Amino acid sequence: MTPCAVLRCQAPGSDVVTGGHYLNDVHEAYICAEHNEKINAGELWDVKDGTVLMGQDLPPALTGWNSSDSRGTRGFVLSLKTSDPEAKPFDVFITPDFAKHLHMLTETRRGE
Ligand SMILES: [Zn+2]
Repeated sequence: MTPCAVLRCQAPGSDVVTGGHYLNDVHEAYICAEHNEKINAGELWDVKDGTVLMGQDLPPALTGWNSSDSRGTRGFVLSLKTSDPEAKPFDVFITPDFAKHLHMLTETRRGE
């Protein structure tokens, strides 16, 4: 019997999930019915070294943001809100160079 690949889950793996999307390294993992249900319901997940990470084992998700233009150095302040109920929104100053890199990153990784 192959155990569920979700970290710390002891249930038998009964379903297969395929990760990798647009990446070159596609991963298949056996997971239990309960975790398969959660993934199908839209819960976030990732695969690291063959282990499926979910819930507390993933970083908090971005749930909202605001931006305000800088009147000083060129750039803007980006305020990020996450799914961590204990984390306060935090601000980062984005220079034009980093804005360009972030734009390229999101364009190539949005998974369409
Ligand atoms: Zn499981």
